[in-house]
Amino acid sequence: MKCGFDLDHYRELLAAAKTGGYRFALFDREPAAGDLLLRHDVDLSLDAALTLAGLEAEAGATATYFLMTRSVFYNLASPEGERALARLRELGHRVGLHAVHPQLDLDERFDPVVAWHNPDPEFMREPLDGAVNAMQAPYFDPDHYRSDSNQHWRSGCPHEELAAGRFEWLQLLTHPEIWAYPGATMRETMLAMLDAERERDLARLAEDRIDLT
Ligand SMILES: [Zn+2]
Ligand SMILES: [Zn+2]
Repeated sequence: MKCGFDLDHYRELLAAAKTGGYRFALFDREPAAGDLLLRHDVDLSLDAALTLAGLEAEAGATATYFLMTRSVFYNLASPEGERALARLRELGHRVGLHAVHPQLDLDERFDPVVAWHNPDPEFMREPLDGAVNAMQAPYFDPDHYRSDSNQHWRSGCPHEELAAGRFEWLQLLTHPEIWAYPGATMRETMLAMLDAERERDLARLAEDRIDLT
């Protein structure tokens, strides 16, 4: 099996989790043996999030999507952003806040769960008032955590260990953009995302009554 950062291998990861007997868990209770917490930090693209969310729903998987209110790449307050949020919930997923420190815009759009974007070590794991921090104990500890930052698994792709049931439980953080767009390197993947964004921006301009003739 080739450990690419693409939709085929994401499907294989979900299948591996099923083989390993894991159940999809959320940040609404402390992790227990057999739990797989699928976490997605949505840094760049709501469309990528929706692509992955649909794939997961088809596979019978439930995830928590952490969305930003202060992203420079997408606007959650736009009609498009509101539709994306509603669609994630329709597909059975949960929505948490991907916050930029120290701003916590934790309103009724979100479940009471927060993941900081690009956190500094000082506050990364600090508990919060009225919400779970996805990186606080016991939701996070290094032996029960894998992430795909910049198309790099620090401890290797977890598909084998998942299939073998080798994690007691796992928080698996993946970034939808990395998987939804093709590319053998992070740069290629980002360029593919920007190409898709350009098409989308043209459609947005037309919808905004800009004359493109
Ligand atoms: Zn793999
Ligand atoms: Zn982030």
